[in-house]
Amino acid sequence: MASKRQIKVGDVAIGGGAPVVVQTMTKTETANLTATMEQIQRVAEAGADVVRCAVPREQDAEALKTIVAQSPIPIIADIHFNHTLALKAIDAGAHCIRLNPGNIGGPDKVAEVAAHAKAAGIPMRIGVNSGSLPRHLHELERDNPVEALVSAAGEFVELMHRLDFYDFKVSIKSTSVPDTIASNRLLSERIDHPLHLGITEAGTKWSGSLKSSVGLGTLLADGIGDTIRISLSTFHAEEEVKVAWEILKALKLRERGPVLIACPTCGRLQFDMDTVVAEIEERLRGYDDPIEVAVLGCAVNGIGEASHADFGIAGAKDMGVIYSQGKPLRKVATGELVDVLFEEIDKYYAAGKRVIVDDARAAEGAALLAQIEAESAGDLTPERLAAMERDAAAEESASAAPALDEAASPVDGRRFQRA
Ligand code: SF4
Repeated sequence: MASKRQIKVGDVAIGGGAPVVVQTMTKTETANLTATMEQIQRVAEAGADVVRCAVPREQDAEALKTIVAQSPIPIIADIHFNHTLALKAIDAGAHCIRLNPGNIGGPDKVAEVAAHAKAAGIPMRIGVNSGSLPRHLHELERDNPVEALVSAAGEFVELMHRLDFYDFKVSIKSTSVPDTIASNRLLSERIDHPLHLGITEAGTKWSGSLKSSVGLGTLLADGIGDTIRISLSTFHAEEEVKVAWEILKALKLRERGPVLIACPTCGRLQFDMDTVVAEIEERLRGYDDPIEVAVLGCAVNGIGEASHADFGIAGAKDMGVIYSQGKPLRKVATGELVDVLFEEIDKYYAAGKRVIVDDARAAEGAALLAQIEAESAGDLTPERLAAMERDAAAEESASAAPALDEAASPVDGRRFQRA
């Protein structure tokens, strides 16, 4: 169940049908203003909607005043153990307070922070982590970790309601991907507050991105989750933001910047596609529009399955083809494919998003495609094999109907009627 309630972190809406919000956390000492502001700037440029800063010391709470004033995106103060720091962070202008009611010193301290947040008109995030459940749930945690996580979150939600505080989102985080999925599914059935999704200590850029994509992607595909943070073991918080965006783009939940598609390559590849794809990916970072750009390792299938792309290249040993929306634009020496691709993309924007076609060049491109296709007509490429499988499956299902009629004919000659 998607959340019904909505909170506002600064001017960013979370929950209640708002687009899924991307957040990350600074990895600097918060009180180091230069380093912290540089990182906030970088994550904001990478597309973070909100950013969280750890506030473990007085000087961090103090630094929040400047950070809040200078940050281009809303600031969430991350507090553990010390409710006084939460009060100070609110006074410093933080747009939201994240705390774990289980480690802040008891319900009275939570009540004090909630009352202060309410007076300041800011929301809170209350979180439960698999490593820090309340003592009375430890036995349940051993038998049923999912129920223990959801019970802990439910108890904290009830506490906030008793305090007459409703302006909050909830997070359940676990290092286990299956437990994260199961507990958030269960929690979303029980409460209608916005949910923050994340996999705790997900790991390195590689493994952490994969775990987060599986865990968060599964929940988001179910319509569960209102804000996400990808936790990666890297100092470069902007990497977390990039991964978050790729997940949201893959699920078509939000659009940001170009989408790059590329064939997996195979033995027909005759140029250095790794370098070409990396260069295109890097250069596409300079564009904000969600155009789709395709890179094909060869043209033996023509433009094939990437024909819907706004722009694309089909490479070859010496000459390749630049195309747009299924139509060749020109043939180009392989070494110049990337530069000419971006020349065409820039022409498109300069013309107010119109593809400029030079008929003579387009004819040359089409002729090259036709030549390559003809020369490789007999090759069993991955795409052709997939097409053959599709055709075979269609043929099989088409022939299944008469076959079933035959099989249904009993020996006495009567035919069963299909419902
Ligand atoms: S046959 Fe397909 S997978 Fe192989 S290089 Fe060509 S486009 Fe890429």
